Amino acid sequence: MNLTEEITTGNYKGEKIVYGGITHYKYADCAEENLITCGEKQVHKDLAKAFLKMQNDAIKDGIKLEIISGFRSIEYQKTIFPCKFKNLPPTEEEFIARLKYSAPAGFSEHHTGLAIDINSLEEDFADTKEYEWLLKHAQNYGFEMSFPKNNKQGLGFEPWHWKYTGTEEAKKTFML
Ligand SMILES: [Zn+2]
Repeated sequence: MNLTEEITTGNYKGEKIVYGGITHYKYADCAEENLITCGEKQVHKDLAKAFLKMQNDAIKDGIKLEIISGFRSIEYQKTIFPCKFKNLPPTEEEFIARLKYSAPAGFSEHHTGLAIDINSLEEDFADTKEYEWLLKHAQNYGFEMSFPKNNKQGLGFEPWHWKYTGTEEAKKTFML
C-alpha cells in the first residue's frame, strides 16, 4: 500500500500527515463517558455546556446558532474521507484537493468531540450576521476558529468549524 492509499483508507500510522503543503494532526476518539447529546448531535460534555450558554446569549441578539456536526468517530471518518473520490486510489490532484477540506480518519478534530460545525458548510457562511457574531463573541465562551484564512496547516477556509479550548484538558488536546 502506498502512502496515499494508507491515508485514504485510514491505515496511516504516523503522528501527522504532511502532504502537498497541507498538515493534518492525529487525534483520538472522545471517551464515551464524555460524550453527550446537544441539540441532535453528540459532542464532548464540556463543549456542550459552553455552547448552550453561547447559543442562549446569541438568541438574545437575534442570532441563531446550531451544531450541524459534532463528534465523529475514527471509524465513521473512514467512510467520509474517501467518499468523494471517483476512483480509488484517487489521483494526486484529487487527493490534495480533498485533504484541503477534509481530514482522513484519525486526523479530524471532530474525533475529539471538542470541535463543531455551526449552521452551514458553505463558504458564504462568512457573509452572515451569525458568523460576524461568532467572530466577536465566541472567544468569550472558549471557542476559536480552527481554520481561518491562511491558517498554518494549509487547509481551506472553514468559517463554520470551531474548536473548544475553554478547559485545560481541551487546550491540551489541541496543543500540537
Ligand atoms: Zn468541521
